[in-house]
Amino acid sequence: MQKGSIRVQTENIFPIIKKFLYSDHEIFVRELISNAVDATQKLKTLASSGELKSDIGNIDIHVKVDKEKKTITISDKGIGMTADELDKYINQVAFSGAEEFLQKYKGKNESNIIGHFGLGFYSSFMVSSSVEIFSKSYKENSRGVHWSCDGSPEYVLEDAEKSDRGTEIVLHINDESSEFLEDGRIRSILERFCRFLPVPIFLDGKEEKDNEQINNTQPAWTRKPSELNKEDYEKFYSELYPFAEMPLFWIHLNVDYPFNLTGILYFPKLKNTYEVQKNKIQLYSNQVFVTDEVKDIVPEFLMLLHGVIDSPDIPLNVSRSYLQGDPNVKKINNYITRKVADKLEELFKTDRKSFEEKWENIGLFVKYGMITEDKFLEKAKGFMLFQESNGKFDTLEEYKKAVEPNQKNKEGKYVIIYSNDPVQQNSFIKDAEGRGYKVVTMETMIDAAFISNIEMKWDDVRFIRVDADTADNLVDKNENKDSVLSEKEKDVLKEFFKLQIDGLNTTVEIKGLSPEGHPVVAVQPEMMRRMKEMASMGGGMSGFYGNLPNEIQLVVNGNHPVYKKILSESDESKQKNMVRNLADMALLSQGLLKGNELTDFINRSVNLMEGKEKSRIITDI
Ligand code: ADP
Repeated sequence: MQKGSIRVQTENIFPIIKKFLYSDHEIFVRELISNAVDATQKLKTLASSGELKSDIGNIDIHVKVDKEKKTITISDKGIGMTADELDKYINQVAFSGAEEFLQKYKGKNESNIIGHFGLGFYSSFMVSSSVEIFSKSYKENSRGVHWSCDGSPEYVLEDAEKSDRGTEIVLHINDESSEFLEDGRIRSILERFCRFLPVPIFLDGKEEKDNEQINNTQPAWTRKPSELNKEDYEKFYSELYPFAEMPLFWIHLNVDYPFNLTGILYFPKLKNTYEVQKNKIQLYSNQVFVTDEVKDIVPEFLMLLHGVIDSPDIPLNVSRSYLQGDPNVKKINNYITRKVADKLEELFKTDRKSFEEKWENIGLFVKYGMITEDKFLEKAKGFMLFQESNGKFDTLEEYKKAVEPNQKNKEGKYVIIYSNDPVQQNSFIKDAEGRGYKVVTMETMIDAAFISNIEMKWDDVRFIRVDADTADNLVDKNENKDSVLSEKEKDVLKEFFKLQIDGLNTTVEIKGLSPEGHPVVAVQPEMMRRMKEMASMGGGMSGFYGNLPNEIQLVVNGNHPVYKKILSESDESKQKNMVRNLADMALLSQGLLKGNELTDFINRSVNLMEGKEKSRIITDI
């Protein structure tokens, strides 16, 4: 029997482990199971290289919780440890057994060896008053050893009876940690961390028949894409998110140079964009669950995806700021972005119809990605779609081609006319389309941000909302054409069109538009409207712009025949009422006619029809 003090740099490592190493005490399960899996993988490597003399036999890992004895036991049938090894690997904490093993077995399946969790074994002291190890090495003529330690630097190492190969760790759970003995607690931790580990893990019941396997040792992402079909991918998705609707499609990631990464990323259905859930991607390291906060590993816009990423090359247990600067993490980030762009491009090229059908869901990712990642922006330019109000889809290039040269402004930029509310802006859309312009719908929550962002990056396009001006002026045409009206007639009309409406600032302009067009249109100048929109979302000038009344321009079409009729009318109050009605109809189509103004409009209309135009209107009372 040997007694001694654990040799570590610090005088006593336990307080450090307990306080600082892991804030999450449940991590001990992950660490001990990882060690057990590790030892088992090493054994498998030995067996396949012919170095294991005996039969490999059953290699299941068992976890047993004994409430009465207040113990948790984790046992494996891995390579085990000799007394010397135990002394070296456990007592001399600074050594890493995995490193030495890797040196020796370089090139032989080493990626399966989980050995970079640092002081893993010692995390058991976070929850234990004392810990025992029973181990027997795979090496011929090995004897069993027993190690125990009560959390002070003093340990005991002695020979012990152990019939089978492998290691058994017995944790004597301390009083503060008795929660870990409760029914279901260990199970839920195992289900979280060990669900996809490569060696069968059993949670033992009272009798052998009650033992229950926790994990799927061959999750879909570890298999070759050629071995998997649609059902397999969907089945795995259900395994990850039991109640979720089936995803749209997925990307199987698989790279081993210059970093190692596998995984499956799923595109979820995102119809209801307000329910976007981030943090659905799980990060694994050689099938050990690490975290579901992948913020620094996955580009922001891809956080909307679901699925699994597995990479032993992502540094674990390090600070976030370090992670951001890590060159591997940067490469991984770029790789994932590229893969996603490639997949979308492939889908677009090979099956445009289904790509278009999914656009409602994919569009959100694509636009978000174009805003936030310039690399993605470049690629996505080829498959980003605009949907015309008639339902047809165009890529940017297709749209440009279709509107050439009709929809170019004076600066030679393509004008993309869009509607963010096709129902509300119906009359504007009809009008613009009637004049041969193509109107696209951009009505999702991301579109406003997308438009202002993309305009800065693509200098050959401008976006103008369909109700920002009269159809022809949307593309800066026809701007100063004079109407058939005389100056005097214009002055009279302008006077009639001066409105007094609370919260509305109206200006009047008389133009010479097509006689078939609307007699008057209420438009909101694009720039002013965008500033108000930005203000309503908060931001620097929000107070200033937010408090401004709605800026409305009434564009009067002086060429419309109705004005000759109104001007030749002898009854001035009838003239006024007719003009006011025209103005109100224009406001109505912008949703700006409310309350008393709306009631007045209705009464006035009825009166006009009945020829009672002189009768009083309600607000005059
Ligand atoms: P790490 O796993 O990072 O090396 P640990 O403190 O968890 O750190 O373990 C130290 C070493 O002890 C391991 O590298 C391994 O050599 C040995 N060891 C731990 N658990 C087992 C086990 N169940 N079977 C065999 N060896 C083990």
